[in-house]
Amino acid sequence: MENEKNNQDKRKYDLLQHNAVASFFKNRKTQFLLQLPLVLFLVLVVLAGFFGIQNSNKNFATISIWVIWWSLLIISIALAGRLWCLMCPFGAIGDWAQRRSYYKKINDTFSLSRKWPTKFRNLSLAAMFFLVITWADFQFNLVNSPLNTAYFIVALLGIVVIISIIFERRSFCRYVCPITGLIGLYSMFAPIELRAKEKGTCKTCKEKYCISGNEKGYPCTVFEYPGTMEKNTHCVLCTECIKTCHFGEPVKKEGIILGSSNRSNISFNLRSFAGDFLTLTKTRMDEALFILVLLGVTVFQTLIMIRPWAVFTPDLMSYTGAGYESVRFILFISAAVLPVLIYSIAVGISKLLSRKVMFKELFTGYAYSIIPLGLMMHLSHNIRHLLEEGTGIIPVISDPFGFGWNLLGTSGYMSAPLLYNNNILLIQWLLMLFGLGFSISVGKNISRRMFRGNDSAYFPVLTFVFILFVFNLWVIGQLIMHKH
Ligand code: SF4
Ligand code: SF4
Repeated sequence: MENEKNNQDKRKYDLLQHNAVASFFKNRKTQFLLQLPLVLFLVLVVLAGFFGIQNSNKNFATISIWVIWWSLLIISIALAGRLWCLMCPFGAIGDWAQRRSYYKKINDTFSLSRKWPTKFRNLSLAAMFFLVITWADFQFNLVNSPLNTAYFIVALLGIVVIISIIFERRSFCRYVCPITGLIGLYSMFAPIELRAKEKGTCKTCKEKYCISGNEKGYPCTVFEYPGTMEKNTHCVLCTECIKTCHFGEPVKKEGIILGSSNRSNISFNLRSFAGDFLTLTKTRMDEALFILVLLGVTVFQTLIMIRPWAVFTPDLMSYTGAGYESVRFILFISAAVLPVLIYSIAVGISKLLSRKVMFKELFTGYAYSIIPLGLMMHLSHNIRHLLEEGTGIIPVISDPFGFGWNLLGTSGYMSAPLLYNNNILLIQWLLMLFGLGFSISVGKNISRRMFRGNDSAYFPVLTFVFILFVFNLWVIGQLIMHKH
């Protein structure tokens, strides 16, 4: 185990070893300068949604959010984890309201700083919020309505600001944000991580400024402690601990210590894909359930766009006598619950094959092995959107409101797919194979580390993963009917 850890450490590359990178993140203005363009982007989206033409193909709000941003977000999570959170405009506005400062460190925040209720310190609210919004998308046609998109953003901003001025730090980001679970769990796959460089230094560190904050920065905004952090799930890469940690490496010249460098005991590493799964020791039931629900919802989002769905739904309506809305709602809930049930059966068989390990341990442990495949399924869904509809942004940036403007001279551009169906399908298959390979490798690693090399216990879960893979291959092979 120790050897494995050392090998993994050797494969990491700390970006903060370069003084220029460390200075960049230690500068308090950096995050503000990354957030500002996205806040302005959000303002434009809201204005276009409220006042622009109500045509989803011609309005900046719908194209930029649901085709471009959402697709790029999933790609960015796979490649850079929670980097989005560093510049997220919602988080920025919450921080600004709470701190009454754009980037300066201030001591008295404009917040009641209440502690988040203990029973909700998990992913339950975020999961509910995620399901409600996904359902609202179907119900109110969010992705096709510029006006509803604008209402949605304003409502979300209102929630962020209210929570920020009642509760301490970024309680919203940690416990409520509808995509925090999705970003956090998928981020475990990303080839970057922020960690304490030397856990031993943290143990002996008396000040623990990463927890308490100091004049250089705030305490961890999402209540993490880098000294024990072992996965990317919750760290929103706010970089406050890079600023506050005072254990810089000493600058030496000819053996004489001249002072402290710009570094700290925090490292910001490039690493191999799926790095978190190889060192994971603590698993959680709320995260395991979120992974399974997310899986179901991801499949459902693609299912409702394929041709067999258009045939299956009316058949079900006439068979049951229920209306379209009811049938769709029941299918949506089934999609969220079904993976939990099927996975539970698989883990039940695992339990029979591995009597010494508790059902709960197997359930939560193996659930993480599904993340790589789940992420690649999500990515393959969004890659299709991006490649087929993404160029729709080109005319819209010249005429964001659909008023007939031609600001950048591109409003006459006839958008067309970047790639055609067979090529997109090939990319989707490769992504899915990539995800399947990682899922199997992570599952075997979890068996070896957590369940004493009990490969027979993994076999039922492997079967679940494989069925999921084959089912998704079938789904993505169907003719897609786009919403835009
Ligand atoms: S991250 Fe830095 S401030 Fe925090 S405990 Fe470790 S050494 Fe101390
Ligand atoms: S661990 Fe550091 S970078 Fe991550 S959220 Fe906490 S303070 Fe920010």
